[in-house]
Amino acid sequence: MNEQNRRPSKDQESPNVAARGLIFNEPVLFEMGSPGRKAYSLPECDVPELEIETLLPPDEIRGPIEEFPELSELDVVRHFTRLSQWNFSIDTNFYPLGSCTMKYNPKINENMARLPGFAQHHPYAPEMFSQGSLQLMHELQECLKEISGMEHVSLQPAAGAQGEFAGMLMIHAYHADKGKPKNKVLLPDSAHGTNPASAALCGYNAVQIPSDKEGLIDIDKLNQLMDEDTAAIMLTNPNTLGMFEKNILEITDIVHKKGGLVYCDGANLNAVMGIAKMGDMGIDVLHFNLHKTFSTPHGGGGPGAGPVGIDAKLEPFLPVPVIEKKGSQYHMNFDRPQSIGKLKAFYGNFGILVRAYAFIRSLGPEGVKQAAESAVLNSNYIKSQLKDVYHLPYPGPSLHECVFNDKHQAPKVTTMDIAKALIDHGFHPPTVYFPLIVKAALMVEPTESESKETLDLFIQAMKDIAKQAKDDPDAVHDAPQLPKVSRPDEAHAARQPTLRWRKG
Ligand SMILES: *Cc1c(COP(=O)(O)O)cnc(C)c1O
Repeated sequence: MNEQNRRPSKDQESPNVAARGLIFNEPVLFEMGSPGRKAYSLPECDVPELEIETLLPPDEIRGPIEEFPELSELDVVRHFTRLSQWNFSIDTNFYPLGSCTMKYNPKINENMARLPGFAQHHPYAPEMFSQGSLQLMHELQECLKEISGMEHVSLQPAAGAQGEFAGMLMIHAYHADKGKPKNKVLLPDSAHGTNPASAALCGYNAVQIPSDKEGLIDIDKLNQLMDEDTAAIMLTNPNTLGMFEKNILEITDIVHKKGGLVYCDGANLNAVMGIAKMGDMGIDVLHFNLHKTFSTPHGGGGPGAGPVGIDAKLEPFLPVPVIEKKGSQYHMNFDRPQSIGKLKAFYGNFGILVRAYAFIRSLGPEGVKQAAESAVLNSNYIKSQLKDVYHLPYPGPSLHECVFNDKHQAPKVTTMDIAKALIDHGFHPPTVYFPLIVKAALMVEPTESESKETLDLFIQAMKDIAKQAKDDPDAVHDAPQLPKVSRPDEAHAARQPTLRWRKG
């Protein structure tokens, strides 16, 4: 970026001082426009005009809004288009957010989701007019079963966390049905925060299992903690350090022997899809994040999908409706007395299911496997190039993501500084300070989408930042300098958002 793109200095920030051209000063809508300006023009009225009071009761009539902006269509279009260009997205640059799998969202997915037969299909349409959509859902279930080795899949949950909740509800229902309700769920200390939350929502006490030196589940500790009162273990494989739980068969065996079930958080299947099946490892419940592994857009707060796969013994408890195929007809089965019930309006986030289906079908079985291999290769390339510059707290073999920290740079320069400095190099910061077992973690997940050129630019940026951290730590502290806003107070923005414009 050149000097021109630098954010205006304080005295240039007034919206009326277009010191760097209009595009660099974007006032809020309330500061724009001119009295009487409109985004529409109507033909002259040729029917008698009526006072609004004769048409609506008084409490339905809005009073005047003070200083309501009056704008043309072009004012509004430019305003929002400019704001959209201040955003970062996977379509603009590399977005290596670990555990989030920010892979490219192929445009073919969008084309498929916009096919009128899908996009305009009414959710209340009767089954006989919904065969195409039901077929797509059934086939997506079959694809996910094939990829995971699970025996049944429900597409309903709207996010990973809701998939976890659905899975834990089924585990709860299973133990209750056996007449042996239990109280505890075991979780490794590297777990994603949603895992203990989902266990707690189902009434379980979340009990932590410490990781061993390698960053894997400590088998001795598991043996000590696992008992008849434990409903399940919730693990992640590969775990949030990107490491494969090599003792997975022993772990599932220990848990099963004491009557527990094994939940696997499959939000990120990017390292294993097409290569290894969780169903073969003794996993009883697995959720998928279609908005991570299967390329549907996320990060902007839009809809996701967190289907949940299960072993046959949990089948009676599946959420309704269950999509079934009878002969050549597809059918929604609501008549399931032991079901945990309905999780989501209609049949889940259908548009997201179409995109994920398009992704899987356009890759095919070989492509799914290649995507996983490239994701692992890309992560290991970054790891190998940066391991002498940034500290690797768990240096063992890892798969689709790698976790560094700031040990070589601290205390002068911290993980947060390094992440912020990357913004000036045009990259989205990686995930920071997660997983919690790594002090000041910096977690990089490149996915299969990125070319070697992009990875090399990222590696160079990381090396440049490490060098600057040595030579001029204050400069790294002050980064980023290029965006409109340097370091907003993130906690303040989340807890006390200013949603209403006030003058002055
Ligand atoms: C993202 C993620 C989740 C939660 O998924 P959401 O769709 O955000 O609810 C759970 N576990 C892991 C490991 C994740 O990376």
